[in-house]
Amino acid sequence: MSNNAIKCIGCGAMFQTLDPNQPGYIDPKLLEEEREVLLCKRCFRLKHYNEAPEVTLSSDAFRKTIGRIAEEDALIVNIIDLFDFSGSMISGLNRIVGNDDIILVANKRDLLPKAVKNDKIERWLRQMVKEYGFNVLDVVIVSAEKGHGVDDLMASIETHRKGRNVYMVGCTNVGKSTLINRIIRTFTPQQQNLITVSQYPGTTLDFIEIPLTQDAALIDTPGIVNEHQYAHYVSKDTLKRMLPKKEIKAKVYQLNPRQTLFIAGLARFDFIKGKRSSFVCYFSNVLYIHRTKLEQADRIFEEHHGKLLSPPQTDELDRLGAFRRYSFTLPEEKTDIVISGLGFITAHAPKAQVALYVPERVGVFLRPSLI
Ligand code: GDP
Repeated sequence: MSNNAIKCIGCGAMFQTLDPNQPGYIDPKLLEEEREVLLCKRCFRLKHYNEAPEVTLSSDAFRKTIGRIAEEDALIVNIIDLFDFSGSMISGLNRIVGNDDIILVANKRDLLPKAVKNDKIERWLRQMVKEYGFNVLDVVIVSAEKGHGVDDLMASIETHRKGRNVYMVGCTNVGKSTLINRIIRTFTPQQQNLITVSQYPGTTLDFIEIPLTQDAALIDTPGIVNEHQYAHYVSKDTLKRMLPKKEIKAKVYQLNPRQTLFIAGLARFDFIKGKRSSFVCYFSNVLYIHRTKLEQADRIFEEHHGKLLSPPQTDELDRLGAFRRYSFTLPEEKTDIVISGLGFITAHAPKAQVALYVPERVGVFLRPSLI
């Protein structure tokens, strides 16, 4: 292999054959063929399919890589997952983007009930963003998969760009690739090879530029891995069943105290003490929810985890690791108990005592109710 074959001529990343999701991945067979011109998988796909595959980074690496954005006067488009708001927020976003303007894009609108008005979701988002301590120029609600709201997003970017670079940031699984590929298909000029990969100075990682007009481009940045998202700890099969594909049908449970709900084998919810109340479950429609008595719950979990209570499958249990118990007293107002990347339970049960069990590394959040 000659020296210049070590690096991809498209993006300059060093070739590697280990991880298709990391920069510079190339099929080892291609390296053996001693071709003159070699592109990594990502550049190949960009060049031939105008498609931007995902590259991911841990949040520390991400911070280092994009530290420069804060120094630049840019427009930031932060994509979050409406179904996992807290789980998809980038911690320390303010530090990353400095004083740059932010447009918040809430994706996966199609998963929430149609009956909920977008105005209401927008008000909720603005309240949440305030609680996280940052300001946004605009909030746009979209479904990248269905293409809803993408025109509004492009119009908002046009209004607020004011000649600046536009950086698309988001953590993994929010649907950033889906959104960007839709933008590429709908809004970029038709000629091939317009998308370019530019190496970010001083890093091994590059940003992908998606031209919109002669002098404007969107810049895609690597997805940030938020380690508390459930998705990182399950198999592909389980992930498929866990990520909702369609509008979620809420499942309502009237619970007496000392009753338990198992969300398949992925989480356990105990109603310990309080007045009989309704608990509304928002999870992927295909997940089986099992109701039982609190007294029986330990035994059922032990005997049936990975079997009746699946997903996960039995061979995934080690990877999932031990479950941790979180116990809390619910506030006066209607509250969502959120399991990052899995879904949420809405309860209006002031002072009720409840407990939630999820794998140790998976995040749990309480928030004012969304729906
Ligand atoms: P990325 O990691 O942010 O690039 O996310 P992807 O684009 O790979 O999407 C992650 C998952 O979310 C995939 O299973 C997508 O099919 C799904 N997804 C993306 N956008 C939407 C959307 O608008 N609605 C729904 N229901 N799912 C979506």
